[in-house]
Amino acid sequence: MTLQRDDALAQGPGAAASGPAIKIRARDINVFYGPKQALFDVSLDMTEKSVTALIGPSGCGKSTFLRCINRMNDTIPGARVEGRIELDGEDVNDRGIDPVVLRARVGMVFQKPNPFPKTIYENVAYGPRIHGIASTKGELDAIVEKSLKRAGLWAEVSDRLQQPGTGLSGGQQQRLVIARAIAVSPEVILMDEPCSALDPIATARIEELIDELRNQYCIVIVTHSMAQAARVSQRTAFSIWANWWKLATQAIFSPIPETAVPRTISPVGSVKDAAMNEHIVKSYEDELNALTAECARMGGLTEAQVADSLDAVIKRDLTLAEQVVARDERLDILQADIERKAIRLIALRQPMANDLRRTVAAMKIANNLERCGDLAKNIAKRTMVLADVEPIATLTRSIERMGRLVSGRLKDVLDAYTASNLERALQVWSRDDEVDEHYNSLFRELLTYMMGDPRTITACAHLLFVAKNMERIGDHATNIAEIIHYEITGDEMMSVTRPKTDDLTP
Ligand code: ADP
Repeated sequence: MTLQRDDALAQGPGAAASGPAIKIRARDINVFYGPKQALFDVSLDMTEKSVTALIGPSGCGKSTFLRCINRMNDTIPGARVEGRIELDGEDVNDRGIDPVVLRARVGMVFQKPNPFPKTIYENVAYGPRIHGIASTKGELDAIVEKSLKRAGLWAEVSDRLQQPGTGLSGGQQQRLVIARAIAVSPEVILMDEPCSALDPIATARIEELIDELRNQYCIVIVTHSMAQAARVSQRTAFSIWANWWKLATQAIFSPIPETAVPRTISPVGSVKDAAMNEHIVKSYEDELNALTAECARMGGLTEAQVADSLDAVIKRDLTLAEQVVARDERLDILQADIERKAIRLIALRQPMANDLRRTVAAMKIANNLERCGDLAKNIAKRTMVLADVEPIATLTRSIERMGRLVSGRLKDVLDAYTASNLERALQVWSRDDEVDEHYNSLFRELLTYMMGDPRTITACAHLLFVAKNMERIGDHATNIAEIIHYEITGDEMMSVTRPKTDDLTP
């Protein structure tokens, strides 16, 4: 399983010489329903001849995103789409694109099978006829037969083509709808939870069909089931909340090994299965514990990086500054590893409730820590410049005070995380404005120096960035406190209610 970061995503997996070509490229998609924003800056590539699954809880915008691809959102009053979606490099929202033609190229299968109230034959023949794909009855017959065969339905219905489509079973109806989509020779098939109304056997049949169809089409499937995403897709885009897609879309995972997840639904469990499940559950707990421990370890390393960067600036210690810069890569590696493990755990183990929150929290905290590491590295780099200019003792002391405060907050919140101590996390959260106050007074102090003696401008400008970085580290500590609150209580704290002092940032 490999995680791709934004830069890799920007080029797209198809950019690799050996990788599949990108069929659909979505960039910075924002969708609004009236005043309400449902999607925030989603960027995602979907490749040729493969299945991309979109998973995430209800309401995070999976269907909304899917509907952007064939412009179905155009049909919803008040819906507005921003951003760019390309199909083979062509902007689907371009005025020159006819939505009817687009929807023939990009077929859609919905949650509930929706055959027309017509015969089985007419359900499939309808599209090719209106799009003028078949000119003779013979050609139409051939398309109907071929499409039903591709949808794995021909053997079951070839002797009753003139009977109503609505008379078929749920699973058969869904395959009929897929045959109807295939009949107009689409390039992409969008599926919005195509199995959620089906029983396990019909689901298994549709999953097999999806696997067969991917040899020819680009398939994008929305599913609630992480196990299904793992079974049917080669790549999965994962979202926790509507505004979390940006991160989520980095989390594209490569094929899960065949052995990891059964392709078909297992028969009723045996005693042997039960013993095996126990083993799985145990290793699942181990995995979860290992994830939390790794996150705590990353926290320790981040604390050290922040404290050392501060010492480097105050003591003008270039060796220490160089060490901080060199060590930052370890944080990047840890963060990527935690994210990879968390997503794998979610996809393969499907944790519920507390466990899901623990997993998500570890991933989000690792993200915040990685950002703190970047800020510490930036502080250390400035030491290298500051070492060449005359020190200003009073300012150094102010920076030190602010730095100690920020380091202390980071330490407290990480201790709260390790001890699962909500009260302690909330204490850090409620003191968010202390850092802002320090920053604001330091900002004024720096301005005074710069105006009083222009020779100090270089040093003061660098110190201002150091202070800003410290303030941001303080904000990350507050974020972590909010994540701990979410992990422990299941409720999100609205960041708008954060105690904040007016920001004086120019
Ligand atoms: P998902 O498919 O992940 O369950 P949706 O894309 O259906 O999520 O919905 C995303 C958000 O947009 C939800 O908050 C939902 O209430 C809202 N939404 C979806 N469709 C509409 C609509 N037609 N009008 C207004 N709001 C909508």
